[in-house]
Amino acid sequence: MTNQYQKLVNTGLTKKIAKQLGLPRPAVLRRHAAGAPLVPGPVVVLGDGASAQPTADLLLGWGLDVLRHLPPGRMVGAVVVAYDDVARPGDLADVALNLGPAVKSLVPGGRVVSISRPAGDGKDPELAAARQGVDGLMRSLGRELRGGATANGLLLAEGVDMGAPSAQAALRFLLSGRSAYVDGQFLEVSDGRGKLPEDWEKPLAGKVAVVTGAARGIGASIAATLARDGATVVAVDVPAAGSALARVANDVRGTALQLDVTRADAGHLIIEHATQRHGRLDIVVHNAGITRDKLLANMDEGRWKSVIAVNTESQLRMNQAFLAAGLPGLRVVSLASTSGIAGNRGQTNYAASKGGVMGMVRASSAAFADIDGGINAVAPGFIETEMTARVPVATRAVARMVMPSLMQGGLPVDVAEAISFLASDAAAGVNGETLRVCGQSLIGR
Ligand code: NAD
Repeated sequence: MTNQYQKLVNTGLTKKIAKQLGLPRPAVLRRHAAGAPLVPGPVVVLGDGASAQPTADLLLGWGLDVLRHLPPGRMVGAVVVAYDDVARPGDLADVALNLGPAVKSLVPGGRVVSISRPAGDGKDPELAAARQGVDGLMRSLGRELRGGATANGLLLAEGVDMGAPSAQAALRFLLSGRSAYVDGQFLEVSDGRGKLPEDWEKPLAGKVAVVTGAARGIGASIAATLARDGATVVAVDVPAAGSALARVANDVRGTALQLDVTRADAGHLIIEHATQRHGRLDIVVHNAGITRDKLLANMDEGRWKSVIAVNTESQLRMNQAFLAAGLPGLRVVSLASTSGIAGNRGQTNYAASKGGVMGMVRASSAAFADIDGGINAVAPGFIETEMTARVPVATRAVARMVMPSLMQGGLPVDVAEAISFLASDAAAGVNGETLRVCGQSLIGR
């Protein structure tokens, strides 16, 4: 339904009518396509932060057309703003006021990416005010952009610069079509770890990845995306989903493992399958999840406990098994949800389970760093799947079009792209974080 509406309001006579009526006109998003340019036009690098010139050099190295100021009348594919040296709130003005005209020149599907430092909990209120100001500026800009363009930020922890592999990989992700439904978000690179891929089209080459809940929906798309990016995939789902699971595994030329992730020995069985069939285990995506919605006043024990058991407790137990096995360099990505950040009516159990995932990820990051790996979460907003097809029609329409800045629900592949990035060795400097893939939904921060 969303696709038909999108077509109608973006083509021919119906586009004109929609414009006159002031109907929301969700743009067709710029998504990853093999062989398509990384950015659809020149990139202008603004600001005089220390990262400005290294970033311009990096972009030139990627074969992009790079400008250090905006010539009048020139359209641009992306704007990168180096704000990493701001020290006082007054420092934001010059670049912000240059950013306005640059943003007017953005092509549809363009990108604005800031580079700045986390405000942190240091002892300098002026510095923190300036840095946190970048956060407010970029999130607001995300709400002003049109034509499927997005605004996101790269945060470089103290001591990290644009030479860090994860800073480069994160910038590339945010500029590319892979981040189509990531909007108004900040991605923090906390250390200099990471290894850039030999081929950016195959960042997971040689890796073995397990995806739970892979028989359908977001999980099936994650399996396809990780395989496209070079990984050998083990697709996991409950025995009742066996035939759909076999189809997914066949499509990605991987293997299927029928397994209920709430089993006490699930972690052990996953390690056994991956190592016996494929010789190693590099990536685990905890995607299996359920909803059992009810207002808390009507909640029963079964609904509450099953959601926590599948969505949170199974992940905790499997992670313990993976850490105990000491799988070197293991990268884990968990599925959270924007409901777990801002809450959602009728979802106290689900939001508790997904809030739990984010807490688990943060608290597990040091243990995974100890095995030279990492753990992060992706929090999707409204994604068009069988799970959300069960949401009442009116709620669905609001969730798709009114709430997110991008005025549409996301696709499973949008979540899968973020997961593939976080699962890659190039993202090793990103650890313990939750990245929202929500089109800048009003729900949550
Ligand atoms: P879905 O219901 O379409 O698919 C979930 C899959 O998980 C199914 O194939 C199911 O059989 C499997 N599964 C459930 N319990 C399992 C168990 N105990 N063991 C093994 N497999 C099990 O859901 P989806 O929309 O694709 O969501 C995937 C993930 O993304 C979930 O964790 C969900 O909470 C999260 N999420 C989805 C949305 C959305 O808008 N669709 C938004 C936020 C978060």
